Amino acid sequence: MSDITTDYLIVGAGAVGLAFADTLIDEDSDCHITIVDRHARPGGHWNDAYSFVALHQPSATYGVNSLELCTDRVDTEGHNAAMYPLARHAEILAYYDRVMREKLLPSGRVTYLPLTDYRGGADGVHSLRGILSGAEQSVAVRRKLVDATWFQTSVPATHTPSFAVAPGTRRAIPGDLPGLWLEAANPPQHFVILGGGKTAMDTAVWLIEAGVAPDRIDWVRPRDSWMFNRRQLQPAHAGLEGLVEFQLALVESATAAANGRAMCHLLETRGVMLRIDPAVEPAMFHFAVISEGEVALMQQITRVHRQGRVTAIEPDAILFGEERVPVPPGTLFIDCTATAVPFSARSDTRPFFDGDTITLQLVQTPFVPYSAALAAFLEVHFDTDEERNPLCNPAPLTDCPDTYPYAVMANLLSGAMLSANPKTESFNSRSRLHPTGPEIARLKAERSPRLASLAKVGEAIRANLPGVIKLGMAAKALHESRHET
Ligand SMILES: Cc1cc2nc3c(=O)[nH]c(=O)nc-3n(C[C@H](O)[C@H](O)[C@H](O)COP(=O)(O)OP(=O)(O)OC[C@H]3O[C@@H](n4cnc5c(N)ncnc54)[C@H](O)[C@@H]3O)c2cc1C
Repeated sequence: MSDITTDYLIVGAGAVGLAFADTLIDEDSDCHITIVDRHARPGGHWNDAYSFVALHQPSATYGVNSLELCTDRVDTEGHNAAMYPLARHAEILAYYDRVMREKLLPSGRVTYLPLTDYRGGADGVHSLRGILSGAEQSVAVRRKLVDATWFQTSVPATHTPSFAVAPGTRRAIPGDLPGLWLEAANPPQHFVILGGGKTAMDTAVWLIEAGVAPDRIDWVRPRDSWMFNRRQLQPAHAGLEGLVEFQLALVESATAAANGRAMCHLLETRGVMLRIDPAVEPAMFHFAVISEGEVALMQQITRVHRQGRVTAIEPDAILFGEERVPVPPGTLFIDCTATAVPFSARSDTRPFFDGDTITLQLVQTPFVPYSAALAAFLEVHFDTDEERNPLCNPAPLTDCPDTYPYAVMANLLSGAMLSANPKTESFNSRSRLHPTGPEIARLKAERSPRLASLAKVGEAIRANLPGVIKLGMAAKALHESRHET
């Protein structure tokens, strides 16, 4: 006999597992859920993140459906001034703690097992192991196993660097930086940021805002990146027109461009895309969102190295294979090379719903919590996998400008399908995690005159669909050929 019996066993208490659990509990009044996670607290990788991390897009569409994440007011200072707030690390962790303590556990229908490893299972019986206790438990699952670990998020605190570190080299991860005051007697004289992704960008901004002169920073940026301009992605209630114009810019640029790279350049001319160095062609696009203020700060760092990936670091040098780039003695190397979401590993999409297993992926890129909440809704309100799966084709996690049009096409087609289905359309209209659904529903309820002009832009978006599909299909072929091996 099993130690625990439950309806749904959710593996992972991060943003994905909790968004799913929250909606499932609200939509299905009699199910029991068991949530298991290796971490000691809810919130997944946010537990391991550096303390100065913040969401990069407004908090309005992050978290779980039933609870707002942040106060609804624009920031008045800093590089996010005049824009809606980005929840910071401490807020995110406190939020997920509230979701667990104030919503899920008090429902009386959720068992939460932190510090517990899911070991696998079959035919409705699964095994768990307490990480500190070593105790083995078996779980009988009456309905489904829910895999909320598909994104395999990786952060500097938990990844293994791929370069050698010579003895005596001063190395840190971003999470160590706020503790540098403890080394006030021997502060680093120079800094090297390793990595070109959003963590590296956060680190660059943090160092400059902490008072480090930009010429005391070297930055190893093997690939530059396009980023969305946060000004264009403010919450719908602050300006639905802005988000609709953003969509229009995407589809018109796709129609006018010969490939994904050209599309990104067109988006740059419309203020939708930003890059740090206008002289460098970005080879990466990971859906990062940034402010013009942050870009201006990062542009102050001019000692940028683009020789490729670092192979080793020494106390006074960066090594790129045979090439040795000297840096001042006492340099602190900051490892920002973790991949956050390992895009290449995540090319193995699979059906969301497959018999007794649900694998939570993306329905709309990059709306991670919304996709998980929608999956819970589909689980409850549709009877068969044949009905559910067409409504949640796993969206591709494209990783570069060339393949980005595939994600644009997939989002557009999936959005159209979800709007055409009365049940999912109704879910979108009340899901705070959906970027536009609730605001459109509100305007409709008020019979707002704004709807007429929005409808015109909607028509223009639809008119561009053939162009989006043409470019998107070419990008899809490229994406698939890159991930075939
Ligand atoms: C620094 C950083 C900033 C980001 N900022 C944003 C942002 O602003 N907006 C945005 O939309 N996205 C952002 N992301 C993307 C982010 O990955 C997703 O938003 C989301 O947090 C992923 O959640 P998750 O639940 O899939 O993964 P995780 O948070 O990694 O949760 C998965 C959980 O599963 C557990 N687990 C795995 N295997 C097992 C097992 N066998 N047994 C038990 N437990 C297991 C892990 O312990 C973990 O807690 C960011 C990512 C990073 C790294």
